[in-house]
This record gives sequence, C-alpha cells and structure tokens, in this order.
Amino acid sequence: MSEKIESLKAAFAEDLKNLDTSAADKVDAFRVKYLGKKGLVTDLLKQTSTLPVEERPAFGKMVNELKAFVAECIDKAIETAKAAALDKKLSEGNVDVTLPGDGIPAGSTHPLYDIREEIIDFFSQMGFEVDFGRDIETDWYNFEALNTPPDHPSRDMQDTFYLDEGVVLRSHTSGTQIHYMETHKPPFRMIAPGHVFRVDNDATHAPMFQQCEGLVVDENISFADLKGVLQVFMNKLFGEGVKTRFRPSFFPFTEPSAEMDVSCVFCGGEGCRRCKGTGWMEIGGCGSVDPNVFKNCGIDGEKYTGFAFGFGLDRIAMLRHAIPEINLLTSNDERFLKQF
Ligand SMILES: [Zn+2]
Repeated sequence: MSEKIESLKAAFAEDLKNLDTSAADKVDAFRVKYLGKKGLVTDLLKQTSTLPVEERPAFGKMVNELKAFVAECIDKAIETAKAAALDKKLSEGNVDVTLPGDGIPAGSTHPLYDIREEIIDFFSQMGFEVDFGRDIETDWYNFEALNTPPDHPSRDMQDTFYLDEGVVLRSHTSGTQIHYMETHKPPFRMIAPGHVFRVDNDATHAPMFQQCEGLVVDENISFADLKGVLQVFMNKLFGEGVKTRFRPSFFPFTEPSAEMDVSCVFCGGEGCRRCKGTGWMEIGGCGSVDPNVFKNCGIDGEKYTGFAFGFGLDRIAMLRHAIPEINLLTSNDERFLKQF
C-alpha cells in the first residue's frame, strides 16, 4: 500500500510543476482534485478502513503526512495566485495612486449661533454682563413686573404659550431684566440672549425664535445714550455707514418707547422690493425704563434712569444673509446650512 502513497506523491509533484498559479480558478480546481470530497488524497485516506487492522495506523499516518504536505503546497499556490491577481490589477491602471484621498466634510457654525456670539462679544467688550435667564417664567416676570396689566393684548392666549395657571414659556427675554434688577444694585449693564416662544407661524414669524435684550441702569442715563449704543451696535452688525432712525412706539415697560429702523441693507436706503420701497427696515424695539418697572424691582426711580432694547436674532440673520423664510433657520436642512 505504501507504493500507492509514493506514486501519488510523485504524481502530485509533477502536477504542481505544471500548475498555472496566475489563475485563481485553476488553483481551486487543483485543490479539489487532491483534497476535495472525492479527491485523490481523500480517496486514499478512505482506503484505510479496507486494510487489516494492524496495518491501519502506519498507513493512516503516512496518508495524513501526504495530506498535510499537499495542503501546504496548495496554500502557497493560492497566495501566489492572489499576488498575481493584484499585480494584474495594478498593471492595468485601475488604481491611480496620484488621486487625492477622500476628504472629511467639514461642518460650519449655524448663522444664528454666529450672530449670538458676535452680539455677546460686542457687548462684553462694552462692559455688559451676560445673563441667559430661563425659558419658563411666571406671569409676574413675563408680564406683570414689566408693567403689562392683565388686560393687555399681548397676554392673549393667541400670543403666549401657557404651561399652567400663571406659568408661561417666555414670550420675550425681558423677564430676565426683572430677575437681574432684583438681584443687582445699579449701576449695571447687561444683555439677555435666549429663546422665546409665541403662538405664531408664517414666513417671518416662528413659534420659537431668539432674542437679545439689553439693559443699562445708572444715574443720568438718557435716551441719547441709548441711541449712541445702538448706532455703534448697528455699525458692528451691518457695517459702517448704516443709518438708524427711531420712531415713537409703545411698550408697557419703557417710557418713552421707540421702534428702531436701519437703512435697508439690500439697497442702502434707495428703496427696493425687500424694504417695500421705503429704504428702511425695522430691527427692534427700545426705550427708557418705565419708572413702574423700577418700582417693581425695588430700584429708586428718582435716583436712577436707564434704557432697554430688544432684537430678534433670527431677523438679523435673515437681513444679513437675505434669508427669505424664518423657518429655514431651524429646519436642519443641510443644503441650507452648507451655505454658511
Ligand atoms: Zn431696500
């Protein structure tokens, strides 16, 4: 029986010499021929059981040694075939190693975040403290302390989200002023950026948007100080040369009150479609602090005066980037956000 093993080993060696190792399919067929279920080596192994019992161990050992040798040779042939395939692919030019790699897409900051940071930077440099306040306010802080009597239209359920009796999602950042005045003694300067909530939803109004409130209280603070600060602020936001104008208005918590306009950032004041031909765009409200508000916070209104102002950050972002719809700012649409 050992001659059978020797002759198979010799036949295998001869066969291996002629194997084309550059073709993976030929190498695989070669493996099946010797080691497959009906392969030549496998067949020899099966014959062990036909031998007399005393001959089986020695024969089995020899066939297994042959099997290990054959398997090793075939593994080498498979490696050679793989290397040959890679060489072929490279030589055919399928891989251009001079091409740049895949870039990692870089994100960018949100336009509202940028504007908020810019505003905080600007006012911090002018000595204003930043107070973010809280999203949920009681009726007292959102309305009453701000001199908004119970029958005021802004208290209507249409405008304000009520969470509970006497508890609201703040409809403006002005409540932060009250908290601040209760806990600080004049003189002080502060801003209160934050989210505000209103029952409102169209192209220019969203149920949630960002405001920034400002408050200055000291002796001899006048409306002229307010105008000066806001003019410098507008120059910072929209560039030197932007004009401002103040129109009389009404807010319960300031007296006198004004709406502030800036010269149209699109046409420079000439008049265009965006400013409806007026050359001006409304940007925010402001005024001198109403003595009643001081009284509600325990501040001496005879000794101190002050001014307050408030802007919508979304409005500023829309003007600066010519964004047509406020909801784009919170839509999380990558096509929109990638533009910044
Ligand atoms: Zn215009």
